[in-house]
Amino acid sequence: ISPSVIKDENGSISSRNGRRLGAAEFVEVVENAFRGLVGRTRLVALSDGLRKEFLDSMYDNPLCMLPSYNHQLPSGEERGTFLALDVGGSTFRVALIELSGRKSDGQECKILKRNTFKIDRTVKQLKGVLFFDWMAERIEEVLSGQAEGHDMSNAPLTMGLAWSFPIEQTSLRSGLLQAMGKGFLAAHGLLGQDLGDLIQESCSRRGLNVQLNAIVNDSSATLLSKAYIDPATRFALILGTGVNAAVHLPVHVFSPPKFGVRPPEWHNSAKHVIVNTELSMFGRGILPYTQWDELLLSVHPNPTFQPLEHFVSGGYLGEIVRLVLVEGIQTAGLFGGVVPPSLRERYSLETETLSHIESDLSPNLTKAQAIFLSRHPTNIPPSTTDLQTIRLIAAHVTHRAAGVVAAGVHALWQLRNEAESILPHESSHTLVAYNGSVLENYPGFKVTCQKHLDTLVEASGGKKGSIELMYAEESSLLGAAVAGAVASLDG
Ligand code: BGC
Ligand code: MG
Repeated sequence: ISPSVIKDENGSISSRNGRRLGAAEFVEVVENAFRGLVGRTRLVALSDGLRKEFLDSMYDNPLCMLPSYNHQLPSGEERGTFLALDVGGSTFRVALIELSGRKSDGQECKILKRNTFKIDRTVKQLKGVLFFDWMAERIEEVLSGQAEGHDMSNAPLTMGLAWSFPIEQTSLRSGLLQAMGKGFLAAHGLLGQDLGDLIQESCSRRGLNVQLNAIVNDSSATLLSKAYIDPATRFALILGTGVNAAVHLPVHVFSPPKFGVRPPEWHNSAKHVIVNTELSMFGRGILPYTQWDELLLSVHPNPTFQPLEHFVSGGYLGEIVRLVLVEGIQTAGLFGGVVPPSLRERYSLETETLSHIESDLSPNLTKAQAIFLSRHPTNIPPSTTDLQTIRLIAAHVTHRAAGVVAAGVHALWQLRNEAESILPHESSHTLVAYNGSVLENYPGFKVTCQKHLDTLVEASGGKKGSIELMYAEESSLLGAAVAGAVASLDG
């Protein structure tokens, strides 16, 4: 990385009067660059801009605002045992789940068995069918290790899949494979092929007596999982390696081209449908870029694919902080001016490391230092000031991320209110079911996001707290099971 020039709001460079910036001054420059972008006015403008982009995509954008075939929310009567599959950004999870119907005691779903398989670099790079064969092998492992054992001679075991990538649904159980982010090559050579068939064929080749009954995006899965328990749920938000939101919308918001030449039969009778927004793909041209965002994108293999994701997700927050930090080391004397070797590598600073560093509240940051050194060994350990600086940079970067996410959710809330002819001040308390490592684990992230939401709601004439983020536990797996059950009832 060549040392770039830091400019403050007036465009002046980081050295003032020919003097280098100190650590504190550097942090101030960073603060101005990130915090200024999510003040009230800017947030409102961002939300407005996103809402316009959403509306435009309702017409014929084939990549975003994707109507699922889930036009019915779960009734709460769905029952049975299902094999739930969850292909996420870094793990493949397989679980046997028993649904026993909506209840008041919180015992609607029981996870009978659950396995997590890491998706490392090698697996991510499996191209085409090889990836689906890998999945089938893991499913076989789970089923053969199954104590109660699914009797393979019986009726096939019903599977539901939560897919953390875009998909163009063609029925509840099928969908066309689209380009995948997060460094996955599985779609290589298979774009436009049926995802359901691909998985089913790989399973058949291994002789597995399973039947893939439902495919849902993980954001829709999250919505379904919460709606199974609480029928008032209309929104879901995912923020982990990637970002996305799903929303239950009246079908009249879509224009016919969105459904291709032949609208699916249900379009005529259905009133609503769960929409996978692919929120990650919005914001081009309206998101507030800093020089570090530009730097990140300048070497990104696919810089225009998911603009919003670059600002907010666990896959990128660490990298943005690393780029800022390296600049601080090179220009403001942090770390004694020496970049630790491991920090020179792209994406070497993980968001998870930052979340540990930010959670150390002790005065000397001993825990933070230990965590840093375990991931980034160096002969010159970071001083307390260095660690404090990392914390501050991380706080500014994540503060902006929380604002951008809130703007996206608020924009969807406004859009749904308009579509349902609900005035903001009449809007009932809206729950947003959320899941994902950043919202769940990053210190303070959810709280900040909620504050930004409150600001936005008030700015649009609603009452503070009208939108509430609500945790949805194991939402991808449970949602996959619920989707499997809904599809079974659908016939
Ligand atoms: C994908 C979405 C997914 C989200 C959260 C994004 O990168 O495009 O399909 O829902 O990550 O996992
Ligand atoms: Mg996930």
